[in-house]
Amino acid sequence: MKTIIIGGVAGGASTATRLRRMDEKAEIIILERGDYISFANCGLPYHIGDVIPERDKLLVVTPEKLRETFNIDARVKHEALSIDRQKKTVKVRDISSGNEYSEQYDKLVLSPGASPIVPPLPGVNLPGVFTLRSIPDMDKIRDYISEKKPQRAVVVGGGFIGLELAENLHHRGVEVTVIEMLDQVMAPIDYEMAAMVHQHLDFKHVRLALGDGISAIAQNDTLHVSLQSGKTVDTDMVILSVGVRPETALAESAGLKLGARGAFEVNAHMQTDDPDIYAIGDAVAVNNIISGTVVNLPLAGPASKQARVVADHIAGKDASFSGVQGTSIVKVFDLTVASTGLNAKTLDSLNMPYQCAIIHASNHAGYYPAASPMAFKLLFSPDGKIYGAQVVGLEGADKRIDVIATAIKANMTVFDLEDLELGYAPPFGSARDPINIIGFVAGNMLRGDLKTLDWRDVDSLDRNEYAVLDVRDPEELAIGSIEGAINIPLGQLRERAKELPRSKKILVYCQVGQRGYFAARLLTQMDFDVTNLNGGYKTYSHAACPQANFDTFEHVSISSREEITEKVPFNPEDSNQFEVDACRLQCPGPILKLYQKVKEIEVGDVVTIKATDFGFSSDVGAWADRTGNKLVSIDSENGVITAKIQKGAAKKAEESKGVMTQDKTMVIFSGDLDKALAGFIIANGAASMGHKVTMFFTFWGLNILRKDNPPKVKKNLIEKMFGFMMPRGAKKLTLSKMHMAGMGTSMIKGIMKKKNVNSLEELIQSALDNGVTIQACQMSMDLMGIQKEELIDGIETVGVATFIHASDESNATIFI
Ligand code: FAD
Repeated sequence: MKTIIIGGVAGGASTATRLRRMDEKAEIIILERGDYISFANCGLPYHIGDVIPERDKLLVVTPEKLRETFNIDARVKHEALSIDRQKKTVKVRDISSGNEYSEQYDKLVLSPGASPIVPPLPGVNLPGVFTLRSIPDMDKIRDYISEKKPQRAVVVGGGFIGLELAENLHHRGVEVTVIEMLDQVMAPIDYEMAAMVHQHLDFKHVRLALGDGISAIAQNDTLHVSLQSGKTVDTDMVILSVGVRPETALAESAGLKLGARGAFEVNAHMQTDDPDIYAIGDAVAVNNIISGTVVNLPLAGPASKQARVVADHIAGKDASFSGVQGTSIVKVFDLTVASTGLNAKTLDSLNMPYQCAIIHASNHAGYYPAASPMAFKLLFSPDGKIYGAQVVGLEGADKRIDVIATAIKANMTVFDLEDLELGYAPPFGSARDPINIIGFVAGNMLRGDLKTLDWRDVDSLDRNEYAVLDVRDPEELAIGSIEGAINIPLGQLRERAKELPRSKKILVYCQVGQRGYFAARLLTQMDFDVTNLNGGYKTYSHAACPQANFDTFEHVSISSREEITEKVPFNPEDSNQFEVDACRLQCPGPILKLYQKVKEIEVGDVVTIKATDFGFSSDVGAWADRTGNKLVSIDSENGVITAKIQKGAAKKAEESKGVMTQDKTMVIFSGDLDKALAGFIIANGAASMGHKVTMFFTFWGLNILRKDNPPKVKKNLIEKMFGFMMPRGAKKLTLSKMHMAGMGTSMIKGIMKKKNVNSLEELIQSALDNGVTIQACQMSMDLMGIQKEELIDGIETVGVATFIHASDESNATIFI
């Protein structure tokens, strides 16, 4: 039996060697049009970055070695030109000599791979513009870097290869800009998970444009990349990494059937519609085992497994390929980004109902040195079938994604994850591994023990329906918090739950979701309707902030960064230096440890803190900003973030609150017209200066907010009497002095009209329009028998804790 294999790298070479192991007598020919056979294409970016310095290491096998060890006839620089299916021949050109000849086959295997997409745009063929697929492509990029010493590079496309290249060019001292057409990098993961990658790229000084594509490249002394948004980037080199396209031209001419994304359609034995012609690897479309759809998945793992199936089938075995699930992993600087199965975007597009759990966990026991965090998302069906998972972390992210990949393949459910028995000792994991924990969370959700809210729904949450409860410790609030949240630390919640409004549902959150869950359980058992923020403030804050940094990116050349770090606005010699090791702590541990240290030291002293929680890299800047301290420098190596913070004096007074703000809060106690007018004039003035204003109406002040024509509500006799005696709304208020049986009040209203001063009703409306938060004190309403329906629209009814929280966040509280 004579088998010809077209394409001699991942799929082709694997087919050949497996076939030899199955059939010693088989005649096996590999036709490879390139210069090399079975090279490590996955290692190409790392040789560009000098991370794999020896080029030879990428050349896994040579044609000589294949002949010698496996008796395989591997012909490099031999291109298959066409296939004659009737005669069962392949027309081949020997690229070195130019000779063409025909080769007969019994079985033909096509493993031609996929070629990088080059968008048809002006300038894509200019010198200095590259794609990366093969060893010669890699050599060209390396030679260019050696000869031209580029300072800047544009990588077009934020997928696996684009980000690997960004990292490796950065490693060579090149300042990189990544241009990505989608609103996120790394399409296999969901937006909030990609958000962590965006922030890490920023942290690593990679400029990132999202939702933008290139429209042209031009050249004079440098390259100018024009973007669709109208922006331009000057650069010294461009790498196009916008995806790959199956190489099927050869087979199309032979009339073979194509399927998804123009890839070969194959059966379970990887046969095309011609049973003597097989196809594998990047050029085929195969079944996705979770969705049942047919997909093209250009990854090395499936290619090599399909190769084995084909070799076995040709050798007479009943081998078949079960399909793909899309497991992938990539290193992006210090982060590991891994995923398996279907993501939320795909599930949405397929209309498959699902839920998801997001946790932030440590790779191993927190008390053992160098624990590192991971964000872990699990997607599952309403009956617990696992659809997919994504992990963004450092150490141990690979292990967790592989466990979930195995669980998917084994048709396990989230309930199986709960009691999966995984190896545990402190250096390797925890007695409750992140796998178990995410199973618990998903199980709790499906059993109805836990309701969760997605980060996307926080900002549009109806605050008339929901009160937001932050159960973190006060020191953590300096990292940032959700606007209008009431802060009751978890430890005080049992005693202080009475401060929460009974009339509202509660959205609870903590930093990573765990204390939020504890609080949710506690409050649920006190008959509150509680929902926990999925993934906690950490997920929300990463995802809700600006993602691209194109417009805010500070030009810092990599070679001069060290000097810039040293150009700090203080003299280290004059400062006392302190060190804090927060490496094994999970968020918010590092911030809390830093806060404790900064409290102890003097203004001007410097703390160098090391942490492994990568969220710390963005938190520490925000924390320093809000607490009046100075982030002097920050960098990371091998997953350890080192930040230097100098204790500041400017905002010392605010340190105890952790927040420096221009917000204003007002307590309106009085129901007198003149005082109400003064209150709203001040509120409107402050709002117009861009200050956030919260007005808290209590006791007689509540009358200002009453409707003059309220709906009928049920009241007891005392409440009815109270309601009757008190002024009903802004129109009915009287002056505190010189009322004179109504004459004084009418006179002042007349003068206001004449002088074009807004009426109180107009001032109230303008305050609402200006974004002033108007709160009615629930406790006073209960005492005075006023019900929410009787108040004008747009008012929040709140407990005192909500107001105190706003007051804590403000720099002035005015009492009227
Ligand atoms: P290839 O390995 O591309 O081999 C196809 C070969 O066929 C080519 O050498 C081509 O020259 C030859 N050929 C095509 N047409 C003809 C013809 N008419 N005649 C003769 N020869 C022909 N995957 C991962 O899973 N993980 C990774 O980390 C990863 N990193 C990658 C990094 C880079 C830079 C690249 C380019 C790819 C990476 N991949 C990775 C993808 C992975 O390499 C591919 O999925 C895998 O190589 C596909 O195998 P294949 O046999 O289908 O195609």
